[in-house]
Amino acid sequence: MQPVVVKDLTLPELANWIESIGERRFRARQLFRHIYARRVRSWQECSDLSKLFRVQLEFGTCLDALKLIEKQTAADGTRKYLFELHDGHCIESVLIPDPPRQTLCLSSQVGCAMGCRFCVTGSMGFKRNLSVGEIVDQICQVQRDQSRITNLVFMGMGEPLANHESVCKAMQIMLDPNGMAFSHRRITLSTAGLIPQLRRLGEESPVNLAISLHAADDALRSHLMPINKTYPLEQLMAACREYPLPPRKRITFEYILMDRVNDEPGHARKLIKLLHGVRAKVNLIPFNPHPGIPYGQSPAQRILEFQEILQKAQLNTLIRQSRGSDIFAACGQLAAQYSLRQTAKA
Ligand code: SAH
Ligand code: SF4
Repeated sequence: MQPVVVKDLTLPELANWIESIGERRFRARQLFRHIYARRVRSWQECSDLSKLFRVQLEFGTCLDALKLIEKQTAADGTRKYLFELHDGHCIESVLIPDPPRQTLCLSSQVGCAMGCRFCVTGSMGFKRNLSVGEIVDQICQVQRDQSRITNLVFMGMGEPLANHESVCKAMQIMLDPNGMAFSHRRITLSTAGLIPQLRRLGEESPVNLAISLHAADDALRSHLMPINKTYPLEQLMAACREYPLPPRKRITFEYILMDRVNDEPGHARKLIKLLHGVRAKVNLIPFNPHPGIPYGQSPAQRILEFQEILQKAQLNTLIRQSRGSDIFAACGQLAAQYSLRQTAKA
């Protein structure tokens, strides 16, 4: 029998499994605390469990879902972790220090099927969805290295809402007071805008929502992000207006500024019109260049002018500093170089 990957299981699922091997359900909470609060590396460290139960766990389960194979640190302290999956695929997670915060950028898929033209992950194509355990273990393994993580963002490889079920279960474990015990205020899911899953997310989970917008008219957005042909802006904005936002929360709209593509004053005015009446904040992201991606970064002056136009219209607007680009760890640059190198060697 294949061992059960314990990090694949939410608390009720773990209780069911424990019951199926003849133990009491309440032990699930105990195991959750050992795994996520005490962060044990082996069941032998759990001396409050009976010897028999520990043997059952040892032979019937697997504690880790990922293998850490490489770690790189950028000049600004950003760390990129490369993990190998059981089938040889690789994914990356990025830890961004921004005192007092330490934000971990999580991957949800190997590659991505959305094919956005500016994104390196998109240019890899889609390989497969990550399992619940593979999502959760990114956090556990980075905590082993740098124990303090304050915020989690689904802004690594992949489209989280295209892997909705596993991402939602992983978030249950992150939010579980007996599990990782993160507050929903400290978790952000970023999506290219898959509307049916977006509506489900609103009903199921209170985490922060970020929408990758990048253009305020359909022609340009469909060119940059093919998903816009399926879910055009009018429908996307309607879903955002109807989104059941908890009090005081806003939806973050991410807008990458690409030289002479979407960074002129006219684009800013369209954006203001589009976001009218939405509880929004805008994150302007200077484009991160990458070999093979046919866009350039907007000059700093144009980025500032763009921000000024939005701010004059009372739109809450931040320019997000690019982090870790010297080790290709910045937004949109994740491509699990290891697997590419391995392929090149083969
Ligand atoms: N698939 C999801 C989450 C992962 S991408 C999404 O698209 O929202 C995380 C963020 O990185 C998105 O806002 C995405 O648009 C942005 N991004 C992609 N390529 C980028 C690049 N080259 N420079 C800057 N940001 C980029
Ligand atoms: Fe996928 Fe997001 Fe990259 Fe688009 S920007 S290809 S949705 S990871």
